Amino acid sequence: MITAAFDYRRPTTVQEAIALLQQYGDDAKLLAGGHSLLPVMKLRLAEPKVLIDLGRVRDLSGIRQDGNEVVLGAMTTHYDVLSSALLQRLCPLLAETAAHIGDPQVRNRGTIGGSLAHADPGADLPAALIALGATIRAVGPGGERTLAVQDLVVDMLTTSLQPNEVLVEVRTPALAAGQGGAYEKFPQPASRFALVGAAALVTVQGERITAARVGLTGAAPTPLRLPAVEAALTGQTAAAIPAAAAQAATGWEPNDDLHASGEYRQHLATVLVRRALERAVAVATGQAAPRFGHW
Ligand SMILES: Cc1cc2nc3c(=O)[nH]c(=O)nc-3n(C[C@H](O)[C@H](O)[C@H](O)COP(=O)(O)OP(=O)(O)OC[C@H]3O[C@@H](n4cnc5c(N)ncnc54)[C@H](O)[C@@H]3O)c2cc1C
Repeated sequence: MITAAFDYRRPTTVQEAIALLQQYGDDAKLLAGGHSLLPVMKLRLAEPKVLIDLGRVRDLSGIRQDGNEVVLGAMTTHYDVLSSALLQRLCPLLAETAAHIGDPQVRNRGTIGGSLAHADPGADLPAALIALGATIRAVGPGGERTLAVQDLVVDMLTTSLQPNEVLVEVRTPALAAGQGGAYEKFPQPASRFALVGAAALVTVQGERITAARVGLTGAAPTPLRLPAVEAALTGQTAAAIPAAAAQAATGWEPNDDLHASGEYRQHLATVLVRRALERAVAVATGQAAPRFGHW
């Protein structure tokens, strides 16, 4: 499979990339790792006339601490996320989740910005980023704006990014004392995209879960936050987890396709949310360590 012919541009700054997006309009596409865009181009489902490669824009790479947040440039690869000592220490849930993505080739080329902008319903990172309460920063000709990851994806493969905006960074809070997270996934066996993936972040004080956030991916056209599960846990002990997780199947319409029926995805959601919550509590209380090993 061969793509249609295209021009190739390689800006070195975000402003230059935005100027190129303005210049070429609908004919242009940003290129990050190419792991979603190039297959789509080879299938001729997209035929951009110009590719704007973000690979040389230095401001878009790297992982750094900023106060009690961790900032990841949009071009940070999944491998960089899973292997970052800073993230493993300050935000282990994100490193653990990146370890679940695809295979070594995908993890070495695919980027956090490309994954979020592509908005594949089976992408892993949105579940963890929603559980963490992460935000993204987007820059366009009119300036910049910040939005919560849970507000970024509006439908399957569709985000609220404007055509001439560049997603420049992802910001996530560092975990505080008493917090623990876990990601549990049922992968599609061939691609390893999530049929369903569940991320949980809990805060535990003594025996009580004082706060919980749960993100779900793969189950529905967009990644989800599960407020009913969170509310059922807040102020409770870990004994409340099974009943809270049973609510993970409600309040959303499941994807139903050749890979899994909607009913099966709803079942997976309850199982994976329960496992993620149980392990998150174990991590928060020092009874288990985050899992950084990759597949
Ligand atoms: C075989 C295979 C298996 C995979 N398995 C998994 C998996 O298990 N879990 C998972 O989560 N993912 C999986 N992926 C997806 C992979 O993780 C990539 O993250 C994903 O393909 C998109 O990232 P990219 O950097 O390759 O983006 P690209 O393909 O370069 O771009 C994707 C889209 O985002 C736009 N874009 C890119 N960067 C920006 C930016 N900074 N601002 C605005 N728009 C931008 C592009 O214009 C394009 O429309 C898999 C991919 C493949 C090919």
